[in-house]
Amino acid sequence: MIDQILKLAKQLISIPSTKNSPKEIKKALNVALEELEGFTVERFESNGSPSALIYAGKTRPKKFKIILNGHLDVVPGRPEQFNPREVNGKLYGRGADDMKAASAVLILLFKEIVNKVNYPLALQLVTDEEIGGYDGVRYQINKGVKADFFITGETTEFKIKNEAKGVIWLKIITKGKAAHGAYLWRGKNALWGLKKILDKIEKAFPVPKRPVWKTTVNLAKISTPNMTANKVPDSAEALFDVRYISADTETIEKKIKNLISDEAKIEFLENEPIHFSPKNNQHILKLQEVGQEILGKKITTIKGYGASDARHYSRVGIAGIEFGPKGQGLHSDNEWIDTQSLKDYYQILRQFLLSL
Ligand SMILES: [Zn+2]
Repeated sequence: MIDQILKLAKQLISIPSTKNSPKEIKKALNVALEELEGFTVERFESNGSPSALIYAGKTRPKKFKIILNGHLDVVPGRPEQFNPREVNGKLYGRGADDMKAASAVLILLFKEIVNKVNYPLALQLVTDEEIGGYDGVRYQINKGVKADFFITGETTEFKIKNEAKGVIWLKIITKGKAAHGAYLWRGKNALWGLKKILDKIEKAFPVPKRPVWKTTVNLAKISTPNMTANKVPDSAEALFDVRYISADTETIEKKIKNLISDEAKIEFLENEPIHFSPKNNQHILKLQEVGQEILGKKITTIKGYGASDARHYSRVGIAGIEFGPKGQGLHSDNEWIDTQSLKDYYQILRQFLLSL
């Protein structure tokens, strides 16, 4: 089986399926779907991003028990990263870790097992995870795709990621009064006004020096339309990226609003929900049991700082996790996956799916 997994993984890695190459994205999806002939393939497309949902029966069930999910898009890489190579038990290449090798496992496992289980199982292949998943996973959910439980094969070193932070992007805008730079008393400086607010935000959300499970605020950009030194700026704005934990879900927007005086305006640009599934979810417990049996060590749950496609399921109340093999260097020039871990990954998921 590992030979087939590696063959398909390499085939996928050699396709530069980045967001700027719609042709290559389509090609990666087609290569994957060639493996899945004989099953029902529902194809979706939204804003140019194709995706597919694969299952055994003729019609889509109201709700799948499990959806296995893989994304076939990658972030851009150096040309040589699209020539996969194996060295000392590691497979190198763009997407080896994130997440074409895991996708290859999911594809081949689905194919082997879908007719051996007596519940509705789906494989979901998407091509826009790296740019937010709005036209892949979220689009399919909007089209009525449902499940009891969702597993995406993002690399987690066999840990179960059952929680990830939510994301808010917002802008704070201050207004002042323009004046000549020599006659400050005639104007009101919007940048000084903004600075006061920035200080308050920095105090309320200090920049952590190490990973801590807290809501964090990144000051991303400060700007003013003012172009010249001898003018008092009458307008300024700052852009923020807020990463919030589940405990702050209901209060975070209010907390930030309260820090801002009446002189500033706040604009919320994005609010992406947290990903959260309770640790005592029966599927999580079962996967921990099976994983421990196969690996001979405890499978722990972890929290994620960054968002994944799992959050789209959280938004509609579907439990889900990130669970994947061992690898490193995602989005870097030196990305790899441990090939032995692909074997273990196949076995763990196989036994898990057969036990349900
Ligand atoms: Zn990924």
